[in-house]
Amino acid sequence: MSSSVDSFAAPMKGDVPNDSQRLKNYIGGKWVASTATEYLPVINPSIGQEIAQVPLSSYRDLDDAVMAANQAFQSWSKMPIKERAQIFYRYKVLLEKNIRELASLVREENGKTMNEAIAEIEKSIEVTEFACSAPQLAGGEILEVSKGVECRIDRYPLGVVASITPFNFPNMVPNWTIPNALVLGNTLILKPSEQVPLSACKIADLLKEAGLPDGVFNIVNGSQTIVEAICDHPEIQAVSFVGSTRVAKIVYERATSHLKRALCLGGAKNHLIVLPDANEEMTAANVAASMSGCAGQRCMAASAMVAVGNVDRIIQKLCDEAKKFIPGENLGPVISKKAKERIEGYIDEAEKQGAKVLVDGRNAIVAGKENGYYVGPTIIDDVQPEMRIAREEVFGPVLSIIRTKNINEAIAIENSSPYGNAASVFTQSGGMARYVIERASAGMIGVNIGVPVPREPFSFGGWNESKFGAGDITGKSSIEFFTKLKKTTTKWNPESKVNWMS
Ligand code: NAD
Repeated sequence: MSSSVDSFAAPMKGDVPNDSQRLKNYIGGKWVASTATEYLPVINPSIGQEIAQVPLSSYRDLDDAVMAANQAFQSWSKMPIKERAQIFYRYKVLLEKNIRELASLVREENGKTMNEAIAEIEKSIEVTEFACSAPQLAGGEILEVSKGVECRIDRYPLGVVASITPFNFPNMVPNWTIPNALVLGNTLILKPSEQVPLSACKIADLLKEAGLPDGVFNIVNGSQTIVEAICDHPEIQAVSFVGSTRVAKIVYERATSHLKRALCLGGAKNHLIVLPDANEEMTAANVAASMSGCAGQRCMAASAMVAVGNVDRIIQKLCDEAKKFIPGENLGPVISKKAKERIEGYIDEAEKQGAKVLVDGRNAIVAGKENGYYVGPTIIDDVQPEMRIAREEVFGPVLSIIRTKNINEAIAIENSSPYGNAASVFTQSGGMARYVIERASAGMIGVNIGVPVPREPFSFGGWNESKFGAGDITGKSSIEFFTKLKKTTTKWNPESKVNWMS
């Protein structure tokens, strides 16, 4: 068993494999054994081996966490925001100090390369920096609205909130919500992905080391049942979710049916429109990195390249660039055996339907890691817009090339997708770029950028079926999500007349 798992794990039971340990929940500042009767294996996808077991926690576990979070809320919410921010300055320094250990945990449970894992922690650091600036951004307003009458607006935290996260960024996505929600005075329950629950444990340890009071941050492990319990729990005020569109819809509907505030980010099918005047080298390198980085398991990954007119030279260069991503070297595995089979199934089906596989990543085997779930970079040409591979989220290092005659046809293909996370255009023409920016139906647009993630303080969030709920998950938008406004009208002038607004 990996030594990094030790501190978060319950004592081994007789029926657990020797090299594996059962994870605990984190409630009220303590590691607490779950009352679960069932555990799931956590698999290191690089080698296909179990590294821990994660509990499918019970409603009772969640209830204990909500009680702890509610109790902590009483004093945490009353602490001045500038004092709360001090804890996140310390947390940021701890993220920096522990960057390699945090990245190793990400690598162990998710499989991404060390460079990718470090980049993920760097984004967590950037989001924490934003949270440190909350005192500068979350201030209220005050105005004398008529003689002797003053209106003021103050922000209040919501109470206990929950964050439900996916497998592809075990450290970064939890950190999209943790620092912002907490600095604004809420207390939080994190339900990490059952496939990658280890990074969250280290986050809890670092928050404690930074001085976060017990009960402000809690972890309840599990999957569907615990997510449903979060949506239903009467004392959880808001739910933030990141994951697939199918589940985002379920969580949004269920949480809001219990009158909770909800923001649910879903899946994606990102189109990169490539025009014949695009810079050949730069376009090829960017598109290859976008489709292959994190083994294509990014909601911002290039999934379809819409080739306008003759861009054959760029496609040739793109194939050369994609081949530079070598499984087991600079290309990690996909998350599970099931994911590998699903991804290769899409490629098989497209090929049978007449698409041309230019670079084939099927059946990738890495020496010494034969049980890992590797898929090599794959580029498929002549994909038709109605094929399943062109419409659905593949979530692997696979790029479909769809040929079009002109820019309007390309934009129509992009906009026919039910998703709307990201879209990019590659061109040297400012006018053409503007034309696409104005028409693409997506929340995050790139011009000559393969992965157009907005950096803080710009907020992150897609459109259409890539996001349900108002606002975005990071940046200033998160201040709106995690606070409610109190409007106070005060009259200090005893002589003033009583009128319609008194
Ligand atoms: P997922 O939807 O399977 O799981 C996400 C979370 O939902 C997990 O914590 C899981 O335990 C829980 N869950 C799973 N099934 C559930 C159900 N039936 N009811 C209630 N809860 C359930 O997603 P994943 O496979 O972990 O992550 C990959 C997906 O996340 C991709 O679709 C990707 O595009 C998306 N994603 C989106 C963004 C974004 O910003 N839009 C960011 C990262 C990942």
